[in-house]
Amino acid sequence: MAWTSEDWFNLACELIPGGVNSPVRAYRSVGGMPFFVEQAAGSRIRDVEGKEYVDYVGSWGPMILGHAHPAVVTAIAEAAARGTSYGAPTPGEVEMAMLLVETFPSIEKVRLVSSGTEAVMSAIRLARGFTGREKILKFEGCYHGHADSLLVKAGSGVATFGIPGSPGVPKELAALTITVPFNNQVALEAALAAHGDELACVIVEPVPGNMGVVLPKPGFLETLREATRERAILLIFDEVISGFRVAWGGWQTVTDIAPDLTCLGKIIGGGLPVGAFGGRADIMDHLAPAGPVYQAGTLSGNPLAMAAGLATLRILQENAEHYESLDRKTFSLCFDLKTLFDEKGIPVTINRSGSLFTVFFTANPVTDFAMAAKSDTEAYARWFRGMLERGISLPPSQFEACFVSFAHTDEDFERTLTACRETLAAW
Ligand SMILES: *Cc1c(COP(=O)(O)O)cnc(C)c1O
Repeated sequence: MAWTSEDWFNLACELIPGGVNSPVRAYRSVGGMPFFVEQAAGSRIRDVEGKEYVDYVGSWGPMILGHAHPAVVTAIAEAAARGTSYGAPTPGEVEMAMLLVETFPSIEKVRLVSSGTEAVMSAIRLARGFTGREKILKFEGCYHGHADSLLVKAGSGVATFGIPGSPGVPKELAALTITVPFNNQVALEAALAAHGDELACVIVEPVPGNMGVVLPKPGFLETLREATRERAILLIFDEVISGFRVAWGGWQTVTDIAPDLTCLGKIIGGGLPVGAFGGRADIMDHLAPAGPVYQAGTLSGNPLAMAAGLATLRILQENAEHYESLDRKTFSLCFDLKTLFDEKGIPVTINRSGSLFTVFFTANPVTDFAMAAKSDTEAYARWFRGMLERGISLPPSQFEACFVSFAHTDEDFERTLTACRETLAAW
């Protein structure tokens, strides 16, 4: 007898804390247990019991082309046949760096690492080393990976489980992290007035995806750019999700705001572990071995990750106009979902940026974490379970984004809407 997801999960729980290697994979906030994956292709993911789902998690962002895209699989296989890691530089790293520098006007030099967390952690250290200042400012509900300084009022799993910070983060370190509500210009200006000349950097997800999707109010990021420049504070855009997701490039290429440093990850690794941070050359040259700020990695710029990432990015670049159709089809899906909820009189607010969206179970607009936190998480859990039962895999948390890929078809959307209609009929 083949093992069920439940069998695997029970064994996993004996061996791995909570049975998962990242808390966002757990179903604790929605009830039940995660399905264990056998394989995935395109928009569909199949569990070990043979049940297939339309997938809106997409590995939390990287799979913009859909799962197991043939060009990406081939690139990985060819790279693997040439060796999986050397501890010495490769042309693939330079090609990736060139592509990023050409695409992002604010990036003059870039360093490649193995995760988004590592990219952000290193960018913060660089900002501190460059400015000689120790404090940093982040926004409530933004998630920047799990490095100590950034696990303060963070989004994603931290928000899902209602943890304000994390045990294990020294309070002396947490005290150096100032937090401000997103989209709140008054609070921002007050914080800058109070801490301005001690701040090394302000870090922000320009389109937050980790408290659910929230859009920046017009002018908010522009003001942030001006205010940080005036005080010689470095501005870091964490585009680990938004990079190559909301457009070819990132939010900054859509809006023409130039941060000093940018963090990338997810899509640029095509589904393999990757991260990158880059920006002004005068800042980046402070990194070892060019400068004194230390940063290193055994597997940094890994050849398989470069191959998968480059294959993905080249397809996106050649089909950059397809972002528009991705945008349009996600708009339609959100519009149709909203109609179904409206017909049942269930209050929801759907926020969307390109192919990212979140159905918040609240009647209010959601513009920051406090508003997101007012959502009815019980109702989200009910919707999630109804959809899962009907073959639709959504993020197992109210405070995460749904991801639509180029591989999602009209048939996938029909299935999704039918599942939603049935779920709400049984509400
Ligand atoms: C996912 C994410 C990270 C962390 O990346 P990992 O690869 O999970 O370490 C950082 N910032 C943002 C905005 C993210 O969405």
